Amino acid sequence: MPAEQQLREKVRQALRSGRLPETGPERVLGGLGSGSRCAICEAIIAAGEIELEVRFRTGGSSQTLHLRCFSIFEDERRHPSGLQLSSGAREGA
Ligand SMILES: [Zn+2]
Repeated sequence: MPAEQQLREKVRQALRSGRLPETGPERVLGGLGSGSRCAICEAIIAAGEIELEVRFRTGGSSQTLHLRCFSIFEDERRHPSGLQLSSGAREGA
């Protein structure tokens, strides 16, 4: 499985190209891997891994994702890392 930075880049590409919508999931179903291909890292989700079937609000489409890829997708969707939150710069308290 690719490193986290590579996964984040794939997520950003998928968001930019519209392959994954920014509207967020309507429903997420989890289970064990069934040999489907992950829509983000494009690897087969093995039987020993957690597979999520994510249905999006846009167009009723669903995608199969690794649990880890999904969490990175959610993170990038909500907090695009292009914005680069500078840590420690806002310590006002
Ligand atoms: Zn994946």
